[in-house]
Amino acid sequence: MTAVAPTPSPRAVNLGPAAELISKEEGHRQPLAPEFVSPHDFSPLEVAYDFGRVRREDIESGPRNIWRYKKLLPVPTTVEQTPNTEPGCTRLVRADRLAKALGVRRLWVKDDTGNPTHSFKDRVVAVALAAAREFGFDTLACPSTGNLANAVAAAAARAGWRSVVLIPSSLERAKVLTTAVYDGALLAVDGNYDDVNRLATQLAAEHESWAFVNVNVRPYYSEGSKTLAFEVAEQLGWRLPEQIVVPIASGSQLTKVDKGFRELGELGLVEASPYRVFGAQATGCSPVSSAYRDGHDVVQPVRPDTIARSLAIGNPADGPYVLDTVRRTGGAIQDVTDDEVVEGIRLLARTEGIFTETAGGVTVATAKKLIESGSIDPDAETVLLITGDGLKTLDALGDRVGPKATVPPSVEAVQSALDD
Ligand SMILES: *Cc1c(COP(=O)(O)O)cnc(C)c1O
Repeated sequence: MTAVAPTPSPRAVNLGPAAELISKEEGHRQPLAPEFVSPHDFSPLEVAYDFGRVRREDIESGPRNIWRYKKLLPVPTTVEQTPNTEPGCTRLVRADRLAKALGVRRLWVKDDTGNPTHSFKDRVVAVALAAAREFGFDTLACPSTGNLANAVAAAAARAGWRSVVLIPSSLERAKVLTTAVYDGALLAVDGNYDDVNRLATQLAAEHESWAFVNVNVRPYYSEGSKTLAFEVAEQLGWRLPEQIVVPIASGSQLTKVDKGFRELGELGLVEASPYRVFGAQATGCSPVSSAYRDGHDVVQPVRPDTIARSLAIGNPADGPYVLDTVRRTGGAIQDVTDDEVVEGIRLLARTEGIFTETAGGVTVATAKKLIESGSIDPDAETVLLITGDGLKTLDALGDRVGPKATVPPSVEAVQSALDD
């Protein structure tokens, strides 16, 4: 009898409906793994699915968080039982006063400040953590411009994982404190975000048990952004908006909002009605907006200089795919100055009572500019994605807002100050 050596087989992973990874350029397929670049064409890898049948009732009977969409995400079917964060199901606000100020008819604000660490990053991190657990990692890591640092440190704390978070040393104090409080390993790196990102890629290759959410598990992480599209459609009564304005950092969110809308149409969960995707950047870091304006397909890296630090990625990984998405859907990309960003923050606050961080200021101000230039149709229904909370970027407001006056405790003093 001859002994037959067992063929080593890769550990089967259970990531729900996720079937394979597929390269974005040439469509090479490979098994699900913690990899992010195709060895065949060196393009980014994306999750391909085998959805089967998904009904609205399956979703509507789910929990009030992103796990209601687990049949559309690369996560284990047991995801609700694993210790995890529960982001999502943030409010979609009908913004009539902002609509009036901007001169459009039907406007909605998706207020993602309502997530556990007050930005949309909790969505992507929750999906990355669920996938990373299935792959057998034990440490959650990231390079970050701030919001991701918050989300990774908090999610790791809740899951009882170690976290390693790398930030540029120039980051806003509020974002440093709101990460450090979760007591993971937080390291400030002398360099800008693109330097920190490069360092993370090197570290990911050295440490097998570290899941860098936006590096080696990026294909899974980025799918979390689809939940913004799913929620908007469900909250509109299972239909797609006609226009949506999305801020761009790496560009992942914008491309995944589009992917989310498309999947809903393909699965028959909504009517596959046309929609246009618009991108928003700060002029001080506008490589994708510049490429769009100049009609280029490649994105030239820039050195960021803007108060919108959460969007300050000078070399955006998904830049070319953002250009594709925007051109295919008939949208546009525009950028706004730091002064316009602050005006955008204040406009949203005074019309809708929503205080957003600089990224939201970019979105509102860009929407205004696109409306004024006629790119956004004022008669078509529009959604603005407000992705982070103003309390994290108080410095951006500087001395521009504050008390009207300091008065003695007398009725006359109050009256005369108000009369001024
Ligand atoms: C990270 C981030 C984005 C966009 O991220 P992408 O890298 O483009 O997916 C938008 N808004 C806020 C507040 C962010 O933190």
